Amino acid sequence: MAKKKISRRSFLKLFGAGTVATAATLAGCKKGNKAEQQAANEYKNQVEPPVGQMTYRENPKTKEKVSILGYGMMRLPMKPDSDSEFDQDMINKQIDYAMEHGLNYIDTSPVYCQGQSERCTGIALSRHKRSEYFIATKLSNFNRDYWAFDKAKEMYHNSLKELQVDYLDYYLLHAVGGSMEEFNGRYVDNGMMDYLLKEREAGRIRNLGFSFHGKKSVFDEVIALHDKYHWDFVQIELNYLDWDYANEISKNNVDASYLYAELQKRGIPAVIMEPLLGGRLANLPQYLMTELKSHDPERSVASWAFRYAGTPEGVLTVLSGMTYMEHLRDNLLSYCPLKPLSEQEMRYLDDEIAQKIVGLENIPCNDCKYCMPCPYGIDIPAIFVHYNKCKNEGSLPMGVGDSEYRKHRRQYLISLERVVPRERQPDHCIQCGQCEPHCPQSIHIPRELRKIDEMIESLKRNPDGVA
Ligand code: SF4
Ligand code: SF4
Repeated sequence: MAKKKISRRSFLKLFGAGTVATAATLAGCKKGNKAEQQAANEYKNQVEPPVGQMTYRENPKTKEKVSILGYGMMRLPMKPDSDSEFDQDMINKQIDYAMEHGLNYIDTSPVYCQGQSERCTGIALSRHKRSEYFIATKLSNFNRDYWAFDKAKEMYHNSLKELQVDYLDYYLLHAVGGSMEEFNGRYVDNGMMDYLLKEREAGRIRNLGFSFHGKKSVFDEVIALHDKYHWDFVQIELNYLDWDYANEISKNNVDASYLYAELQKRGIPAVIMEPLLGGRLANLPQYLMTELKSHDPERSVASWAFRYAGTPEGVLTVLSGMTYMEHLRDNLLSYCPLKPLSEQEMRYLDDEIAQKIVGLENIPCNDCKYCMPCPYGIDIPAIFVHYNKCKNEGSLPMGVGDSEYRKHRRQYLISLERVVPRERQPDHCIQCGQCEPHCPQSIHIPRELRKIDEMIESLKRNPDGVA
């Protein structure tokens, strides 16, 4: 393992620093942040999920039964006190536990977890019978060097090797949506698509699909290719905020209601990612948490989002990156079995909770880390997550008129120091703009950082909040 591990530097070289998946993956597997650990506190009275109660959905093509909960292997646990070594014993334990509870869909990619996810997943799964799980992985050839046929083919074969399997159950063209030029360059002009279609015919790829992040026009063109390629499934972002508000929050995003309806029209099953919107739907302002709890005191706040994502019948499985056992147990409790939301409950989330979240006017950062690493070391997502958290808790210092200004000012500055080291704070941003094109939420990152920096400077200059 140690010998095979690739360094962060080689990994960046291999996949290209700043590419969508590279950045996400590099940062996606660090030890849980404070917010995740706080969320774990919610589960302290957690009960054991029942065995033998998992809800399954049928794949219309293969007729196989897929568990409604899928394991996303993009945020694997790390060894205590390590930033680079994955905790294989814990990964094995969590996979075993998930499978004992009926989970059978496991999703990875060559670029997750600094390029180590497939290997860790392969080790964990090799201890189980091949017939007991479905493995999904991706052609993550973001870097232009990997658009060449030989390189893309090598990536595909390497996935088989790392996963220790001789066929893949689900294979995805990873993160389609930027432009048709990119789609054609990565898959069509180089002959890779023809190759994958032959691999599907030969049975080494049992289901072929794509994951989508991006523009509606690209989705429309690629989904229209169904007539030619016969997509067996498509992976989309779906949650109760994105259902109707994705496009309102960010002009480059497409509402999940549209994406899902297009798949339904063609009878294509949907695999769901981001059911919790990067944890945002589990870390709501306290008053919204209280409101959801009052509707169902037994369920966690996250379980509302999971049940929402799993309720539509055209959903094959809902992926969750479960770093901690508490998350895994909670999700199993939501899906063993899934109690679908009623129409009234769906409307309650769509019309009331989602609207209130939109009204918060948070910076729409879902902590995906696609903008990372910043060449100047700025911890962009940590700054935005911290800002949103203070805003949602009502503890953002508001200057003149804020009767608790001194307390809020102190809290903000001290907590920022705790979560973001000084050299990674907004004042070190040189406004180069390199991060911005990578943000799927179309956040004007340098502008937002400058606004936060101005606020911090003003807090430092003005301890009493006077005009
Ligand atoms: S604009 Fe700021 S945060 Fe973005 S890459 Fe440049 S220095 Fe980093
Ligand atoms: S700023 Fe954008 S790219 Fe960066 S973590 Fe937030 S949502 Fe993701």
